[in-house]
Amino acid sequence: MTKKTNEEIIAEMQIVAQQMVKDDLDENPDLADEYFECDCCGKTSCMAGSIQYDKYRLCNDCVLLAETGFALKKFNNIQALIDAMEDNRLEEFCNYIKSEEARSKQINN
Ligand SMILES: [Zn+2]
Repeated sequence: MTKKTNEEIIAEMQIVAQQMVKDDLDENPDLADEYFECDCCGKTSCMAGSIQYDKYRLCNDCVLLAETGFALKKFNNIQALIDAMEDNRLEEFCNYIKSEEARSKQINN
């Protein structure tokens, strides 16, 4: 048994995630017009390819993140991903605030 590289795992997961969208749409074409708010990234996303993990529903992009993270053993439960994403959101938010601050200072000067 040969060990897969991270790149190979990621490439495989991308195919799996794309396949999930296809399978969902094959089973229920109406899903293409159904949207929900992803519990992980907070974006409004298509139901096709989304997955329910515990109490969270994740969009296909986040499913890819989650499954890749599991495969690479970055984390072992969905809560860890949600927490990491919240930190990210917080960081983005902080950067946004900082850039807004810098801009208003420039205007004032
Ligand atoms: Zn998402």
